Amino acid sequence: MSSLDQNHSGCRDKTTVAGDSSDIHELAKQPLQGLKLASHAVLEEAQQSGRVICSKCGGSRMFFCYTCCSLVGVGVHDIPITKLPLKIDIIKHPNETDGKSTAVHAKILAPNDVTIYTYPCIPEFEREKVVLVFPGPQAVSVQDMLHCLRDRSNSRSQNHFDEPCPKKLKTERVEGATHTDITPESGTPDETESLESRMSPLQRVVFIDSTWNQTNRISSDERLQGFVQVELKTRKTCFWRSQKGKPDTYLSTIEAIYYFLKDFHQHCLSLEYKGEYDNLLFFYSYLHSVVNKAKISAGKC
Ligand SMILES: [Zn+2]
Repeated sequence: MSSLDQNHSGCRDKTTVAGDSSDIHELAKQPLQGLKLASHAVLEEAQQSGRVICSKCGGSRMFFCYTCCSLVGVGVHDIPITKLPLKIDIIKHPNETDGKSTAVHAKILAPNDVTIYTYPCIPEFEREKVVLVFPGPQAVSVQDMLHCLRDRSNSRSQNHFDEPCPKKLKTERVEGATHTDITPESGTPDETESLESRMSPLQRVVFIDSTWNQTNRISSDERLQGFVQVELKTRKTCFWRSQKGKPDTYLSTIEAIYYFLKDFHQHCLSLEYKGEYDNLLFFYSYLHSVVNKAKISAGKC
């Protein structure tokens, strides 16, 4: 069920969530405030027009079709397409209800950098260039993950005299998974090299999209063993579908991707964060505000 199935009268502001400061009580419940977001006016208009039939699958949808991963009733030029510094692979549980998943937000907002796979389909990864974002006793922070990858890469190259990076690397570069994606055009060769070395060796990040009770099946798959595992321990979810009995550090997929990239930008690229990936939360923050307003008008808060 979408949160937009109900008619909410309190969502007619022409400002973004970040600018909605009329209600202090509500602000206290707005962990997403302060984001640099594109205007939500297009979503407000689409919401007022109501649901639209997806031309591909015939489903009745609002904003986008979560089955087809395409926009519905909203133009591609109306939404903030976001460029990411890394490739994101999302492995989705087959039983996960598409309409509840936030993985599709990432695919629609960063179509060139995000790929969604449905389990048991898992691409072949090079473990020296990939991290898996999943909590566990072995998991490290984003700050520590590059050290772990380098250590792992070094110990492998000491043990094996064959080339550590087989042909696949070239293929990935052709596909666009290169370091140069985020290299400033004005950078000198030295700066370019240092940025590249800071970024290296990580190229892809894997997220598992599933309710937390279903993740064991995917995370225990032998093809996902032996990765450097990363946990976003200090972040808290504000998902309106937060799961009973789970700590609030269990993030929704789009939150996890956003916080990972923000940490990566600051701690691995050593760059000041200026809201580069905030628009990954374009749909999420809007839906969050709609749900919050509905709760308030229903007297639940
Ligand atoms: Zn569709």
